[in-house]
Amino acid sequence: MKDRYDAIVVGGGLAGLTAANHLARNGHSTLLAEQHSQLGGLATYFRRKSHVLDVSLHGFPVGMKKSFRKYWGKEYSDRVTQVRSIRFDNPQFRLETSFDKEDFSRLLAEKFAIAPDTVCRFFETLAKMNYYDDQEELTHQLFERFFPNRQEVWRLLMEPITYANGSTLHEPAISYGIVFGNFMSRGVYTFEGGTDLLLDMMSGTLRQNGVDAETSALVEQILVERGKVVGAVVNGREIAASAVLSNGSLIRTVRDLLDGQSLDAEFRESCSQVRLSNSSAQVYIGIKPGEKLDYIGDLLFTSTHPRFDAEAICAPQITSRTYSVYYPSIRPGLNQYTVVASMNARHQDWSGLGREAYRQAKRRMIEEALDAFEKYVPNIRRIVDYTEAATPLTFERYTRHENGASFGTKFEGLRYSMELPKQVAGLFHAGSVGIIMSGWLGSVNYGVIVANDILKYLQGQK
Ligand SMILES: Cc1cc2nc3c(=O)[nH]c(=O)nc-3n(C[C@H](O)[C@H](O)[C@H](O)COP(=O)(O)OP(=O)(O)OC[C@H]3O[C@@H](n4cnc5c(N)ncnc54)[C@H](O)[C@@H]3O)c2cc1C
Repeated sequence: MKDRYDAIVVGGGLAGLTAANHLARNGHSTLLAEQHSQLGGLATYFRRKSHVLDVSLHGFPVGMKKSFRKYWGKEYSDRVTQVRSIRFDNPQFRLETSFDKEDFSRLLAEKFAIAPDTVCRFFETLAKMNYYDDQEELTHQLFERFFPNRQEVWRLLMEPITYANGSTLHEPAISYGIVFGNFMSRGVYTFEGGTDLLLDMMSGTLRQNGVDAETSALVEQILVERGKVVGAVVNGREIAASAVLSNGSLIRTVRDLLDGQSLDAEFRESCSQVRLSNSSAQVYIGIKPGEKLDYIGDLLFTSTHPRFDAEAICAPQITSRTYSVYYPSIRPGLNQYTVVASMNARHQDWSGLGREAYRQAKRRMIEEALDAFEKYVPNIRRIVDYTEAATPLTFERYTRHENGASFGTKFEGLRYSMELPKQVAGLFHAGSVGIIMSGWLGSVNYGVIVANDILKYLQGQK
């Protein structure tokens, strides 16, 4: 690390990485300080035995292709490929879909007997939604308006989005509509090569553009003098900078990284009331080399719960799991199969357990995930050679998100994230907040939006 930069980016999640790249490409000396030993934040992977296990590469909207091309390069966008099939299996319905508007319109009309005109109006309403709209209507009110008393339709429309970002029926309809609408435009996509290749490519691009990307570099404090950012303390060392962008937890940025005097007391207090989204748990399953899985779909939304229930989806008695199945096509050349079961989870259900009880709960979660998967792959136990589990405590440990909140904050967090620069000149935040700005696409785009604000700020400083 040098002693001085134009900008310091705190955290190497997708928003931080993209912002750092954008700043450097526009000629600014940039330090990216990531506390973990690996870049990526939640967009990460790990290697065990012969397996590479992806943590959050389950699927993103087609918009990611454009964002990769514009902000990272064509070699990235060329690797964005569509996943073939998504399956739902729950007590209300079983179906297979390409998860796009055309196929959903067909399913809603043919399988759920919704009038085509209603389906059309529903999609038109979603298409018109944007952040500056009226935020009064809640998601369940939107559904009541179009599909009154049709709980199974609500489940089809809502459950995947709850899995994807932790949102519920009691949040602004636009936070549902924008995210769901993004997927509906052309289905679900993935990155050929996997998260490991993506992060290797990103490290290379950052280096080429002159970003100093430091891992195991914890930002302990953001330094402010007379209402203006002057630098940060990284691993005990003061580094000067004109601007700091935090990609870490919004709550922790405000509470822990800033001196209490730097912010208006009311802002600080009301920001501390922002609700966090829930966290996640995962079970990682590696298939023995030489064994194979027949094609059973790329994403399986499975549940044994009788109806959609956002609370039950997070409960420690797990009834709902999303299985992501990775076939050799994700990493051409490696003849490898892995499966990742993802569940929504609450930090408080895990944080109170003693060491042994925690271990047992993880073991149970693994066994139950295998049991439930036997329905789709009856010989799964015979062909598995590696299993591991992650809990909300794992997510907290590796990303420093308050309570392991893997989807950031609820909707109201966006306002505080956007208003930070009005509180302290030169201080910015970008990362999972407010549902809309989360996920791979939301994070990358938010990173660029904020990096553009930083460019203007740095220009003004000159
Ligand atoms: C289980 C799971 C599955 C998911 N699946 C999908 C999916 O299929 N598709 C999709 O689009 N999205 C998915 N997501 C969401 C997506 O991964 C995230 O929304 C996105 O990666 C968040 O990026 P971010 O930029 O907000 O930063 P984060 O990934 O939250 O990273 C923040 C970074 O800041 C670092 N940091 C924090 N504090 C400090 C500090 N003081 N000093 C230095 N560094 C610090 C952290 O270590 C971390 O690297 C999933 C998330 C989870 C948890």
